Amino acid sequence: MTMYADRINSLPPYLFAAIDKARQEAVKKGVDVINLSIGDPDLPTPPHIVEAMRKSVGNPARHRYPSYEGMLTFRIAAAKWYKKYMNIDLDPENEVLTLIGSKEGIAHLPLAFLNPGDISLVPDPGYPVYNIGSILADGKPFKMPLLGENDFLPDLDAIPSDVAKKAKLMFLNYPNNPTSATATTGFFREVVDFASENEILVVHDNAYSEMVYDGYKAPSFLATSGAKDIAIEMHSLSKTYNMTGWRLGFAVGNRDILAGLGKVKTNVDSGAFEAVQEAGIAALSGPQTCVQEMNQVYKERRDALIAGLNDLGLEVKPPKATFYVWVKVRGKSLDFTKMLLERSGIVATPGVGFGEYGEGYIRFALTQSVERINEAVERMRKLEIK
Ligand SMILES: *Cc1c(COP(=O)(O)O)cnc(C)c1O
Repeated sequence: MTMYADRINSLPPYLFAAIDKARQEAVKKGVDVINLSIGDPDLPTPPHIVEAMRKSVGNPARHRYPSYEGMLTFRIAAAKWYKKYMNIDLDPENEVLTLIGSKEGIAHLPLAFLNPGDISLVPDPGYPVYNIGSILADGKPFKMPLLGENDFLPDLDAIPSDVAKKAKLMFLNYPNNPTSATATTGFFREVVDFASENEILVVHDNAYSEMVYDGYKAPSFLATSGAKDIAIEMHSLSKTYNMTGWRLGFAVGNRDILAGLGKVKTNVDSGAFEAVQEAGIAALSGPQTCVQEMNQVYKERRDALIAGLNDLGLEVKPPKATFYVWVKVRGKSLDFTKMLLERSGIVATPGVGFGEYGEGYIRFALTQSVERINEAVERMRKLEIK
């Protein structure tokens, strides 16, 4: 297609659309499909948050253009949440920025910091937007492989020094999608030193900070000393409060980086609907028991799937965070997921959809009931999957 700009033509194929098409075809044929591919909570938004929205949407003052940087009341709620749960002090005036979902912020950020050809360091496998956002800004993504032998943390020493010197941005995401790996504070320390030395801005995507199990607590990148000089952290209400459709997130940290992102946003969007921000205030400042309850649900599902997979001879350790299970499989990941769908009606995501280093793995999302997960395990028992 010649009508598209080069940057569109150069985007990698969106594998997930093809998988969803195959799923739809199976459903059409009458297959009882068990969809373990979607990273979208299946449970509803907690009622007190819905109620806050209901109240707010009736207020005409909320119907107008929102302020670009987000309502101060929302930014104050985000700063207080950070203080309470991460023990980090933030100035709500200029160290917090409201986002229309964190995907929006991630996609727009490279426009503020990359000149054509500038390098951004992106994890592979990874949430695709780090790579795509960099390409859309005419930047050059450099892949940092996340390998099992390194606990799915990038090996900073493996980044060639000329690449490190030229890089402007680094994206990180722990707890991690798709591998469900977590990062140690020691690793964050190394990143801050590496980034400070090479003058790289770090964007830490902390979308899964609250989706944790077995007493694990996910650290904020900003808790590392010196991090606020070079980094921002992205947050989303999507996964924490089952609010994917509402489109609300926020970025916190270095004020100059936030100002750059804010400048792009001011020119391309007009902020998040204020009624949604008021629902967000209810989420962040209300009781967090809903989060604990959801984590309990995911934990039961996780345990069911892990026990089932282990029983089938696949060695998988229970993840400490996220609602993903990352499983090493035989052969090519796409062939494996095709086989799973064709022979057992199970949809999983092939690791290669998250980048070349995801090859050889598949991702299950814990977005089905324990009953359905057990059913999926029984169906897989009939396959030679080991
Ligand atoms: C789901 C997800 C997001 C997107 O969150 P939104 O706030 O809904 O845009 C961002 N990062 C990662 C790693 C995710 O898995």
